[in-house]
Amino acid sequence: MSSLPPCPKCQSQYVYQDANLFICPECGFEWTDADQQSASEQGITDANGNLLADGDTVTVIKDLKIKGSSSVVKVGTKVKNIRLLDADHSKDGHNIDCKIDGLGAMKLTSKYVKKT
Ligand SMILES: [Zn+2]
Repeated sequence: MSSLPPCPKCQSQYVYQDANLFICPECGFEWTDADQQSASEQGITDANGNLLADGDTVTVIKDLKIKGSSSVVKVGTKVKNIRLLDADHSKDGHNIDCKIDGLGAMKLTSKYVKKT
């Protein structure tokens, strides 16, 4: 019985294992078990170094301009129910996906928030 993980790149189920290496025949991606563990253990932390999790409530610690708009997320704004983005999806250092009352959906940078 095999319980190989799907390919982290293309989600292919046809991954095979060669010693410590996992290989995806569909996209050619190769990785090791250690790679996978470090990726999932590499947490996203707030300004104080506390580990953040999906669903946390955080407070913004500095005024943040919203790209392409004149709106500002004010310091002290509470942001509920954040969703963490993995490195592949976080562009420009934005690694938190959230919705802010009155402002809508946006992405934040974890170093400008603190867990409440
Ligand atoms: Zn693949």
